[in-house]
Amino acid sequence: MSFASLGLHPDIVQQVKTLGYSSPTPIQLAAIPAVLEQKDLMAGAQTGTGKTAAFALPLLHHILQTKDLGHKGIQVLVLTPTRELAQQVHASFVKYSEKLPIQSVVAYGGASINVQLDSLRKGCDVLVATPGRLLELIMKDLIDLSHLHALVLDEADRMLDMGFIIDIQRILKKLPEARQTLFFSATFNDEIFALSKTLLKDPQLIEVDSRNTTATQVEQTIYAVDQDQKSALLSFLIGSKNWQQVLIFTRTKQGADELAKEMQKDGIATQSIHGDKSQGARDRVLADFKAGKVRALVATDVAARGIDIEQLQYVVNHELPYNAEDYIHRIGRTGRAGTSGLAVTLVSEKERYLLTDIEKLVGEQFVPQWLQGFEPDLNKVMNTQKKREPSKKELRAKALGLHSPKDKKSKKKRRFN
Ligand code: AMP
Repeated sequence: MSFASLGLHPDIVQQVKTLGYSSPTPIQLAAIPAVLEQKDLMAGAQTGTGKTAAFALPLLHHILQTKDLGHKGIQVLVLTPTRELAQQVHASFVKYSEKLPIQSVVAYGGASINVQLDSLRKGCDVLVATPGRLLELIMKDLIDLSHLHALVLDEADRMLDMGFIIDIQRILKKLPEARQTLFFSATFNDEIFALSKTLLKDPQLIEVDSRNTTATQVEQTIYAVDQDQKSALLSFLIGSKNWQQVLIFTRTKQGADELAKEMQKDGIATQSIHGDKSQGARDRVLADFKAGKVRALVATDVAARGIDIEQLQYVVNHELPYNAEDYIHRIGRTGRAGTSGLAVTLVSEKERYLLTDIEKLVGEQFVPQWLQGFEPDLNKVMNTQKKREPSKKELRAKALGLHSPKDKKSKKKRRFN
């Protein structure tokens, strides 16, 4: 099936052709007709599946029609969890509407509000924003959302994970009730369903990939290795296999900085990206990584969320995420839009339980390998296994169905990354 047969405006069809998209991806095939019919949508789509165009193209089509009827003001609002994703979605709207009389503006925290206000004043049909900055604009009465006809929540799961639920609810109160709402999420859980119930009217459920599965084009390799050997193994892999563009995940900002320093010492041009860095610094690092000036980029989960690099081939989990769903997001950074990718995960004995969580989520059993020269020290493994016997307190918490105090601590820690 072609883009033209989906009923999109000829100028939009021409533009995607110019961009080299020969046919719609599965999520586009399913979502575009539903959005054109102005239905609410609950779509499960992994990163890299073409989900941005799946909502951007039909929404642009609709704006073209309403503009013909004389409609003005912000018509489409896209909320994203991170600045990077906001920039990326905005760039997609700009790319798709290059030859159309449609203006897209992006607004996020950590950057000058005045510059964003200037852009808004010049005219804005599509606003892409992070919840915090949008709320600031609303509270200061600097923005008019009364003409809105469509709201998109992109990566809704991540927004909830990052604790944006209150902000989102406050924003929703300021939006017209008669609107179309599109909900995109890579993973689904009970919280997501609960929010969708309050937001969506008779939604169409679209799931092109089976729920909670990893990107199909990504080969996954797991290496069992001692924690203190991970950095050496990583530098060895990058060097010996001549990987040129590698995205590496750690759990903490400090861990990201430390690993980047160690890899620099090993002679690999490496930078880190996380929430403690200024927006300017993050943009520079990302641009250098994209341009190939930086060979390895170490990122925390939140910072990496919006990174879209065509043909990124290698993703490494230097540490396993506490939240199994993050594994799906992480490895979804590679194998995008039909290209193949490799996701390497380094797992220490202490992290085995996290790997089990991931296996349960993706419904796949992994077989960790040993790499010659980096085999785990069996004495250490035995000691860790002994240490991991649960305490009475943990057993009691489990029996009562409570999270162990340890779990709570780790969840808290992750939120700040
Ligand atoms: P997304 O899932 O929206 O992050 O898109 C991932 C990548 O796929 C982006 O780089 C898009 O430019 C690209 N893309 C989107 N739709 C298509 C398509 N129909 N054909 C080829 N590439 C596409």
